[in-house]
Amino acid sequence: MPAEPAVPPAPLREPFHIIDPESFHRTFLDEICALATDVRAVAKSREGRLGLQALLSDRRAMLYFTQPSTRTFLSFDNACHILGIRTSEIRDPSTSSEVKGESLEDSIRTFSSYVDIIIMRSAEPGLAARAARLMDSIARRLPIVNAGSGPDQHPTQALLDIYTLDRSFAERGGIEGKTIGMMGDLARGRTVRSLCHLLRHYPGVRLRFLSPPEFRMRADVKETLSRHAIEFDETDEPATALPGLDALYLTRLQSEYDRPGENARFDHARFGIGPDELARMNPDAIIMHPLPRGPELDPRVDDDPRAMYWRQERNGMWVRAALLIRVLGAEAQLRELGR
Ligand code: ASP
Repeated sequence: MPAEPAVPPAPLREPFHIIDPESFHRTFLDEICALATDVRAVAKSREGRLGLQALLSDRRAMLYFTQPSTRTFLSFDNACHILGIRTSEIRDPSTSSEVKGESLEDSIRTFSSYVDIIIMRSAEPGLAARAARLMDSIARRLPIVNAGSGPDQHPTQALLDIYTLDRSFAERGGIEGKTIGMMGDLARGRTVRSLCHLLRHYPGVRLRFLSPPEFRMRADVKETLSRHAIEFDETDEPATALPGLDALYLTRLQSEYDRPGENARFDHARFGIGPDELARMNPDAIIMHPLPRGPELDPRVDDDPRAMYWRQERNGMWVRAALLIRVLGAEAQLRELGR
């Protein structure tokens, strides 16, 4: 039997659910970045790692991932392990009562009987929001974390992207005032959609959308940016835009969302980068990609010091640990460990 935690857990704080990046405030983003840095620092020593393992060892998480995932699943799973949270998982709906026709509501309600937090990914937009609404209507209300909802949103990826940008520009005045290019399938890439919602909190940021016309950033995101006076432009001639960027965020073609019979394609030579494009970019620009990569990201870029995607991937685990600490209310205990 694990010992009772010495300090009772703090009450849960807003945002209660992690669903919609549009609702995140700047203070929340700053808190998550600071917490991620604190967890990393504590995890540097063996003593710190053991302390972290006791932090949330009285908590259990459900990882309900019915859409394929490597990084998000593994980083959440390992973030839970770092903090001592025990996990249950469903990754293949054919092994759950969904095949017997159980509704999402009943499945979520069932998970909520056993765990303290539900982290979910689905191919269908809006499912995590539906689960959150259900939680808000029942007595045993648990936090729901959206770990990717179809081509719609990926709020925790956006948080780790903000953390990566924040760290990369720490010595250069922060994210504020930077020019950030987003390239590829911007219409169906949920990571860039979510990131745009968060970048509106950084004054002076300029966005450049680099995509073929049929894969342009959707109107809902552009409306949000206009509403918040964030400057953006779009072009299907990326070559001319590369030299002025502080960061380039690449995305792959999201072919899993092709309509039946559709076989969407774009010219990866134009909407991708390799040694030639690298040569045209600023010497201190950073290159990000949520991964997995497709032909748009030449592996020869990996050795360039501007390639940030492997660090970005690892940042995901620390940011997700920070998020779990924040949502489950263990910040004070983390501060104790850091002393
Ligand atoms: N891994 C990211 C996502 O889940 C990016 C991608 O799949 O292209 O959206």
